[in-house]
Order: sequence, then C-alpha cells, then structure tokens
Amino acid sequence: MDLWLLLGLVPALGLGAAGRYWWARRPPSRPAPSAAAPVAGAVPNPALSAVRAVLEALPDACIVVDATGRVVVRNAAAGELTAAAEGKPLASSLRIPGVLQAIERVVDGNPAEETEFVLPAPVERTIEAHIAPLAIGGGPMAMAFLYDTTLVTRVERMRADFVANASHELRTPLTSLSGFIETIRGPAKDDKEAQERFLEIMQEQAARMRRLIDDLLSLSRIELNEHVRPSGKADLVAIARDVVDAAQPMLGRAKVKVHIEAEPGAGPVLGERDELVQVVQNLLDNAVKYGGDGGDVMIRIGEASETTTACAIIDKGPGIAREHLPRLTERFYRVDAKTSRERGGTGLGLAIVKHILNRHRGRLEIESEPGKGSRFTIHLPTWIAAAP
Ligand code: ADP
Repeated sequence: MDLWLLLGLVPALGLGAAGRYWWARRPPSRPAPSAAAPVAGAVPNPALSAVRAVLEALPDACIVVDATGRVVVRNAAAGELTAAAEGKPLASSLRIPGVLQAIERVVDGNPAEETEFVLPAPVERTIEAHIAPLAIGGGPMAMAFLYDTTLVTRVERMRADFVANASHELRTPLTSLSGFIETIRGPAKDDKEAQERFLEIMQEQAARMRRLIDDLLSLSRIELNEHVRPSGKADLVAIARDVVDAAQPMLGRAKVKVHIEAEPGAGPVLGERDELVQVVQNLLDNAVKYGGDGGDVMIRIGEASETTTACAIIDKGPGIAREHLPRLTERFYRVDAKTSRERGGTGLGLAIVKHILNRHRGRLEIESEPGKGSRFTIHLPTWIAAAP
C-alpha cells in the first residue's frame, strides 16, 4: 500500500479501544492534510477498495463522504446504525445538521472535528462523531466515525446520581446532628430534660449514618469481587437459623414470629456463607420492617430445579404495587422514602442482595400483591458433592 494511502488511513487505523480514547481526547487541532489531486481516470479509485476493506474490519460505524455530500463508502456497522447508503447523499439518511455541517467544513480543508448528537429512532442513542479529512485521491473527502456512547453516558449518569443520592442521605442526619449540637450549646444549655431527648435523637442519627456507610462499603466490596465466583459450600438452612437467632431482639420488639420450613436434604448451595448471611438478613429485616407488626414471617427452603435451591422469605405485610417491582433492587430506590427512613432503612438492602446473588450466579425473584404480602425468593446453585 502506498505511503500516502497509509497516512490517509491513520485516523481509521488508530480507532481500537485505546485509539478511540486517544481520538476522543485529542485536541481537534490537527491540520487537514491537503487533499491529494484527483487521480485522472482512476475510476474506481483503487484506494477506496483498501479503505473499504479496512473499515469493514472495524467494529465502529464509519462513513466516507465526498465533497458533494455523497456517501462514498460505509461499513456494515454504519449500515446498522444509520440508513446511509453508498452513492446517496448522507443528508437523505442522517438528518443531523450539526454533523453534516462539520463534514462539510472538514471536506473544505478545515481540521478534524468532534460532535455529539442523538439518534431518536428506533431507540434513542447518543452518538459521538469524529470527523477527519481523508486524502486518498479522487478529491477531498471526510471520514466520519460514529461511536455509540449511549451505555457510557448512562453509566456516567448513574454514577453521578449515586454520588448525589449518597451525599444527600448522609447530609440529612449530619444537618440534624449539627442542629442539635447548636441547640444543646445554646437555647437548651440549662435544660437537662431537653438535652437527654436531643442526645437520644442524635444517637439515632449517628446510627443511621453508620448503617449507611456500612452498606455503602459492603456494596463496593461486593462489586469489586463480583467477577470471582464463590467455590465454597454453604447451608441455607443453617444460615436461616443463625440469622433468625441473631434477630431475636428485633423480632421481640416487633412481636414477629419467624417459622423456618425446609425440605429434607435441601439447603447446601455453592456459595460464601458470610455473604449469604447478609442476603437472608437483609430480606428478613425487610419482611419484619415492612411486613406489619405482629405478623408472622415464613422462611421456606427447598429444591427449585435439578440444579438450584430456593429460599423464600414470605411476609403478610402491605405488599408492593406492581410498578415498583422492577426497580426495587436499584440503589436508593424506595416505595416510600419516609417509611423506609423511619424504620432504619438505607435504600441499599436489596441492591446488596442483587449484587451478592449476581456473584453467586443466582437470582432474586420478587412476588408481591398489595394487601396480600410479599415473597422474596433467592435461587442459588445447589452444592453438588464432587465424585470421589
Ligand atoms: P430499605 O433500606 O429502604 O429497606 P431496600 O433496598 O432493602 O431498602 O428495599 C427497597 C424498598 O423496597 C424499601 O424501601 C421498601 O419500600 C420496599 N420493600 C422491600 N422489602 C419489602 C417488603 N417485604 N414489603 C414491602 N416493601 C418492601
């Protein structure tokens, strides 16, 4: 391949994962290479076949446009992303003035450009376009890389939302603590009775902050390990008994009785005991917190399929409306934030459950009906003893 052709292809060849990063971050100041003189009589342009072969090998959408705005080459990925057709004006399939104008400027000899736009149909996607001059003979052209950043944008938004939510959750008890400190040092300086009351509330708020920090740390630890599948043996029946024993003070206060029912032989699963304790604990906590004072809670353990064991935590509480069910495992998602906070919730319990189950290659099933109660079932791979 000629040197000039290789140079013309540099922007394309540089766009692997690392190249894309470089491309996205470089200042768009590279001067446009002077367009090579049209190759007289060179129809079809042999360089274009080489460009086409390279572009077809690239995973990202790429479109080459000439000075008349016509699509000269487009790879299969571009065909999936847009309706761009070779030989037709790009404007007839991609009606995004910002991109079309940027291409025009680059074809006119201006430096490479980057622009972002939204493709509204069939599903809304955010696309980052990198447009560079292409000098391969046959007149000035521009090569547009279309990089789908929908997922990256969504993850970025989720991260920002998470930080905002976590800060908000921590700031509320902190504000209350600072307020009470000021009151105790000021207006309530000599009021022993009020001080006692305020100190009690301050203790509750501090406990709330500690629970939140514990849950946040738990979540980040579990996420770090999520790709490592546990290989140990854990017994769900023993775990359920231990969790219920440890919860006796809370169960006593809430006047809730927990019954454990287990199928003979069911219980051993492939998993890490401490994490599964946390799963059962969080689900039992919720069943007691939301399941209505004085109600009974049932924990049922049994075989769910040839290879899986299920553990269901069932309450007879107020239940959850259907529209909330798919969102319950999102961080900080609550059906009723006020009730959750009043009952000591952090909004992270089910998110922790979901991540632990992901790590175990298990899953959480939620069934609930308003007025009838809820059933949270965990499904885990059954422990199969290795053959001797
Ligand atoms: P929280 O700390 O608020 O309990 P979770 O992630 O454990 O957070 O639960 C998310 C939300 O799901 C709760 O705020 C509550 O609205 C709802 N929820 C969870 N379990 C139950 C249940 N057994 N009955 C009714 N609502 C529940």
